[in-house]
Amino acid sequence: MTGENEQENQYRLCPSCGNFSHVLERHFFCILCGTKLIDSCVKCGTSIIHPHGKFCHHCGASYKTDQTRTD
Ligand SMILES: [Zn+2]
Ligand SMILES: [Zn+2]
Repeated sequence: MTGENEQENQYRLCPSCGNFSHVLERHFFCILCGTKLIDSCVKCGTSIIHPHGKFCHHCGASYKTDQTRTD
């Protein structure tokens, strides 16, 4: 059952504020801002294994979807 073990290193991230939750905690929405959490890269689908990661380690896409530019 490698699938079970892999979950131990997976996290959900809030694409809005950067908050995170371990995948086994079964949090589906950010407790800080209410945004739906993502458990994998929205671009390539690779699982999120770094809770403090801001970019996908596989394809380099940003996990953040709320990229409001101020320039
Ligand atoms: Zn949030
Ligand atoms: Zn990716």
